[in-house]
Amino acid sequence: MTWLELDKEYVWHPYNSLPSKTKILPVISTNKTSIFLETGEVLIDAMSSWWSAIHGYNHPKLNDALKKQVEIMPHIMFGGLAHEQASLLSKKLVDLTGLHSIFLCDSGSVSVEVALKTAILYQKAKGLKKYKFLALEHSYHGDTLGAMSVCDPQNSMHSIYGSYMSEHIFTKAPKLGFFSNCEEEIKVLEDNFEKYHKEIAGFIVEPIVQGAGGMRIYNPQYLKKARELCTKYDVLLIADEIATGFGHTGLMFAYEHADIKPDILTIGKGLTGGYMTMAAMITTRNVSEIISNSEIGVLMHGPTFMANPLACSVANASIDLLLESNWQENVKNIESIFSAELKAAKELKLVKDVRNIGAIGIIELKDDSYAQEVQDYCVKNGVWIRPFGKLIYSIVAYTIKEEDLRIIVKTMINAIKNIKEKK
Ligand SMILES: *Cc1c(COP(=O)(O)O)cnc(C)c1O
Repeated sequence: MTWLELDKEYVWHPYNSLPSKTKILPVISTNKTSIFLETGEVLIDAMSSWWSAIHGYNHPKLNDALKKQVEIMPHIMFGGLAHEQASLLSKKLVDLTGLHSIFLCDSGSVSVEVALKTAILYQKAKGLKKYKFLALEHSYHGDTLGAMSVCDPQNSMHSIYGSYMSEHIFTKAPKLGFFSNCEEEIKVLEDNFEKYHKEIAGFIVEPIVQGAGGMRIYNPQYLKKARELCTKYDVLLIADEIATGFGHTGLMFAYEHADIKPDILTIGKGLTGGYMTMAAMITTRNVSEIISNSEIGVLMHGPTFMANPLACSVANASIDLLLESNWQENVKNIESIFSAELKAAKELKLVKDVRNIGAIGIIELKDDSYAQEVQDYCVKNGVWIRPFGKLIYSIVAYTIKEEDLRIIVKTMINAIKNIKEKK
């Protein structure tokens, strides 16, 4: 069997059947923002590997960091042992966030699990039994059990798991739009805090952009209010910036749009520049001190591969690379190209809404039955797009060439124009 035939026979792909009913493309290599297929085709990458490859692929500085580290120490357990790359990375994260205590773990979903557990420990340390969380409708926080249970219960892909998941409290998500009025949703939030604050350990939110749950951009005022309410009721504010972090919305972290700080932060995806799987759960000094000084005393979690030195070294190189680049200018430039080029989609009959912020451009269709058709058209025309239901979206590396970005948006729009309406 060829390796692609082996894939078809044995390999389960994300959110898929085995064998896959839809086409899986054979990738042989990547470079910058290009994806090279075995068939000889070259695709412009419009997905940056699910928000992660912020510098594009095979960056010489990131490649070097990994090569250097692999000769020194590819891995070492973190229980009872420390290493330089983890310490340096933690200091960088402290400097970037102004927070204090860093737990390095192996994927975004795991960092969300750790965040939820930490919030419960914090409340317990204060003598409170608070085992519920408040979350937003349309939220997405990951695919593991705890993370799934704070994802939107109706719209998420997790509803099939039924009572396997624990039940939490969901509040109305703020209206679409960075400048939209969200007084009504704030009122609902206030009511929920009043009603449930004795049960809820934390309020978990994706700041400014709700990602996989609907690609929804909302008003920073909502976050400001959430911060106030969390402080008032001593409910921890958990910012899930796994998607939005590292500049995707134009600021380093999206919560900066609201000029607030969370009590707990989760980051992942772009952390290693898309090279290796790693995430972090970060808390204020207050949270870690209260837990550490209590009877509980410890954060009961410890993935085998936590703080993997290879991942830490490439994360260090990626953050350095980001900070020494003109990333803010690049993202601003990307934002204005998305704004200008996406306008043409507004007029199309199948389009419900068009929106963008930072390095993220979104076309929402009225119908969710065209995802595959759009993907096929884009691939045929040299662009790697993977729509999700009604959402045709692109998240690009900050290093993308302007002309390639224009091609991406034009191809998205042409793909919609090309749809042969069913019925
Ligand atoms: C992707 C994502 C996660 C899960 O991260 P994984 O690394 O896929 O486990 C959690 N929260 C948000 C907001 C995400 O976008």
